[in-house]
Amino acid sequence: MSDRYMVEPDLKAVKELTGSGAGTLKKCFQCATCSVVCPLSGDTRPFPRKEMIYAQWGLMDRLAGNPDIWLCHQCNDCSLHCPRGAKPGDVLAAVRRYSFTKYAFPKFMGKLLGDAKNLPYLLAVPIIIMIILLASIGHLNIPEGEIVFSKFFPLFYVDALFIAVSMFALLSAGIGVLNFWKDMNKSSNLWVPSMGLFPSIISTATEIFGHNKFKDCGVNKDRYNAHLLVFYGFVGLFITTNIVLVLVDFLHVETPLSLIHPVKILGNVSGIALFIGITLVVLNRLKNKDITSTTSYDWTLIGMIFALVITGFLAELTRLAGIAFLAYPIYFIHLVAVFYIIAYLPYSKLGHLLYRTVAMVYSKYSGREH
Ligand code: SF4
Ligand code: SF4
Repeated sequence: MSDRYMVEPDLKAVKELTGSGAGTLKKCFQCATCSVVCPLSGDTRPFPRKEMIYAQWGLMDRLAGNPDIWLCHQCNDCSLHCPRGAKPGDVLAAVRRYSFTKYAFPKFMGKLLGDAKNLPYLLAVPIIIMIILLASIGHLNIPEGEIVFSKFFPLFYVDALFIAVSMFALLSAGIGVLNFWKDMNKSSNLWVPSMGLFPSIISTATEIFGHNKFKDCGVNKDRYNAHLLVFYGFVGLFITTNIVLVLVDFLHVETPLSLIHPVKILGNVSGIALFIGITLVVLNRLKNKDITSTTSYDWTLIGMIFALVITGFLAELTRLAGIAFLAYPIYFIHLVAVFYIIAYLPYSKLGHLLYRTVAMVYSKYSGREH
């Protein structure tokens, strides 16, 4: 006899979803075309049809610990073919956004990042912290002479601030991901582990670095190039930052590095890749605006990535041109953008990097993916 399931609709969550990009949710009449056309859906428990009915009924317990919402790469083949215009791709994106809030630690951070109206408060945090830091060491002025950013914001303070911010983000992400894993475990008691954890991690990493899943998308093939450039842009900047940290703090290399230093070249190439990638993301979104909607939540992150990369290049160019009254303030704004990207990563759309990776590992490990 099949198990009984007491339906307990969470109407507040349904309202939240419809207000955050899933306004078409109720149009779905469960024809399952979306699950048939989805290039990433597995043969067993295909998505996104079942997620559409869970979302319509507000069955958030069935959605939150469901790895399938993360296996979706938002290519929108389903939305193009949906006969009712229910835009399942957008609905899954809204459910993922809901998950960021659900797994956020501390909780209020998820709520803050979930509403684009809070952007001024979120930006105020790094601005105030950095002004206090600079005031405490008497550096609230434009330094004289050759432009060297460490004369304005000493590297010791930059390192201390960003190591603390990274630790905070890591702790928050770790707690969120752990709770997500537990929820996936709860909802997968019928699945049989089919691959060891380590091989699952290796297989997932191979897919992510090759962006294999994006290659399967039909409607939005261009998304592959855009996402790949953004991904490797961030990877390159992450590597650059950490090498610079070692060079300066442990090997006592003088900064700024010359433009032909390999680490500088890596940083600049990564910045260019990120800029081209995020520009392609915007162009793709505009091109496909009838199939998928872009919410203020999406635009906020896109805007912050642009801010990060443009201020990074402008700081470098104004430094090289010797325009001190522009170079130092732009550098300050650049640090604010870096703070935003790192500190708020677990709660912003960038958090998909964590949750999708974990969901992919779990799906392989649990035998969910076929
Ligand atoms: S979302 Fe569209 S394609 Fe999918 S089941 Fe509903 S009506 Fe059918
Ligand atoms: S957006 Fe793409 S990957 Fe996601 S459910 Fe639809 S077809 Fe599948």
